[in-house]
Amino acid sequence: MQFEHLAHPAPASTETREQAIADPGFGRVFTDHMVEIDYDADRGGWHCARLRAREPIALDPAAAVLHYAQEIFEGMKAYRHPDGQFALFRPEENARRLNVSARRMAMPELPEELFLRSIRELLAVDGEWFPPVPGGSLYLRPFMFATEAFLGVRPARQYKYLLIASPVGNYFKSGAPAVTIWVSRDYTRAAPGGMGAAKTGGNYAASLVPIGEGLAQGCDQVVFLDAVERRWIEELGGMNLFFAFADGSVVTPPLTGTILPGITRDSLITLLREEGLTVREEPYSIDRWRDDAGSGRLVETLACGTAAVVTPVGTVVDRNTRFTIGTGGPGQLAQRMRDRLLGIQLGTIEDCHGWVTKLG
Ligand SMILES: *Cc1c(COP(=O)(O)O)cnc(C)c1O
Repeated sequence: MQFEHLAHPAPASTETREQAIADPGFGRVFTDHMVEIDYDADRGGWHCARLRAREPIALDPAAAVLHYAQEIFEGMKAYRHPDGQFALFRPEENARRLNVSARRMAMPELPEELFLRSIRELLAVDGEWFPPVPGGSLYLRPFMFATEAFLGVRPARQYKYLLIASPVGNYFKSGAPAVTIWVSRDYTRAAPGGMGAAKTGGNYAASLVPIGEGLAQGCDQVVFLDAVERRWIEELGGMNLFFAFADGSVVTPPLTGTILPGITRDSLITLLREEGLTVREEPYSIDRWRDDAGSGRLVETLACGTAAVVTPVGTVVDRNTRFTIGTGGPGQLAQRMRDRLLGIQLGTIEDCHGWVTKLG
């Protein structure tokens, strides 16, 4: 497919850009350009791929996404290696997962080469937006939504794929402090047969009220339990969980369709096994979590995802109780896994798994 380059009428001045990326925070600053590709079932599918100025887009008020939420997204980071080149971490996995999400949401799949091409095109023009801060990266947000103006309930026939980029600083300013987690008892995130394994905005909409509850309780994040028995630990609103025991084994909830299959989760399983730890993908209950933390059988709990990499869980707050894991502070395993993963992503540790794609 042709990739058209449309000139930006008014890119940010060097001064404006440098100011914006000096202390970018997370998800507030955006680069000059975006990629836009249209889909029309009646015009042969994907067409009109272009790189253009990032600006508001016009949508018909009847656009299906605004009514029935046909929307999916991905989240990934472009890193800069010591040699100055950009690097992506397992981007084909994001391409594949976008299409898994698309199938669940009755949306068209985007060819993987087109997904990867969109990233290369955007980075080629907006590389100067890479933030000059330690632990900084360019956060990439590819997403797709239904644009067809039609209020009937059926899969839309028209869609838009967009890719935007946001310079981001270190998610946590000083390393990774242990976070406090609120147990969501009244609200679940995803039910069997639902869309918990799709990366779609609706799952995040469902998490906002329980996150608000948790914030009111002084917590940083929320852990969701399974929707059937309200007993099995699933994941945080946007991060997967690992439980590390004193005997050297590690448990992570299995991918049964209600959990988002994190690429960080998959990578951690590999790295943990390489360290000689036994990793089991099996259900783990909230009661066991509390008891094992109390007895000392459980030594650490790790949360993981692209944005925050590996984050230790220090304290869990439930309705009438709270419990601490290990010392309540960052544990050794969390620190070690975070350093390994970040080292591979940043190019300071050799990539023995073929996980890193350099862009030159
Ligand atoms: C994106 C996401 C994750 C983490 O996935 P990564 O590929 O590791 O970034 C975990 N849970 C949910 C609900 C997510 O949306």
